[in-house]
Amino acid sequence: MKENQNINGKGRQAEEGCLIFDTHAHYDDAQFDEDREELLESLPVFGIGNVIDVGAGLKSTVRAVALAKKYPFIYAAAGVHPTETQELTEQNFSWLASQLDEEKVVAVGEIGLDYHWDSPRDVQQYWFDRQLFLAVEKDLPVIIHSRDAAADTLAALRRVYDDAQAGGKRLTGVIHCFSYGREMAREYVKMGFFLGIGGVVTFQNARKTKEVVTDTDLEHLVLETDCPYLSPEPHRGERNSSLYLPLVVQEIARLKGITPEEVIRVTARNAGRLYRL
Ligand SMILES: [Zn+2]
Repeated sequence: MKENQNINGKGRQAEEGCLIFDTHAHYDDAQFDEDREELLESLPVFGIGNVIDVGAGLKSTVRAVALAKKYPFIYAAAGVHPTETQELTEQNFSWLASQLDEEKVVAVGEIGLDYHWDSPRDVQQYWFDRQLFLAVEKDLPVIIHSRDAAADTLAALRRVYDDAQAGGKRLTGVIHCFSYGREMAREYVKMGFFLGIGGVVTFQNARKTKEVVTDTDLEHLVLETDCPYLSPEPHRGERNSSLYLPLVVQEIARLKGITPEEVIRVTARNAGRLYRL
């Protein structure tokens, strides 16, 4: 527990209240095949409290659910990433829905729109809507991936959000790796969504993300790695893991003029509310 004590410099009680919550990781990715077990077992020792392993497709969802069953501190999200939606059929969509009833599956994700890659937009939009309505039906939060698709993502979420409210239900969730500007951030915060902040905030050229962090109340931010991707500075380009999250914490603390302990404590509490743990 030495590393964790270095973070908060206090006794056991503070230590327990000061564990980092990684709200978005892909430990099921092949990049962790060589040392997955060793790495995951080390996380609690280094002050990582909880991890959400996020499905990126059908196979990845199977692996995420298995990891959640194996490790007490890992929870899973089941969903199909926008650029993988061509694999979806009515049949496997029913299977995906059934995974949401599994123990420790706490969200639908990651789902959304990605216009950066050459993946048919009509297919993405169709299955994004289906997965959003599935989340409302199951009363689970959503994990949203949105790249170069700001207006369409907001429009789709708002449509389903309004529809849910009209039916006495709710749509909640997180905009993962939030990459848009302050105005868009405010729109999501107004709807009660959380914004996921990760390694990008440490990049020198990430002016927009730094502005969003400065401008947004800490109550609406959660920490994430998106590992193995998006390592923070000075590890940019290397394989990422939850062990690098203190670098993200430091940058958020610097931008907001608060202590790293406060960033860890408040974002962990937010994550607990987000995933209803
Ligand atoms: Zn991801």
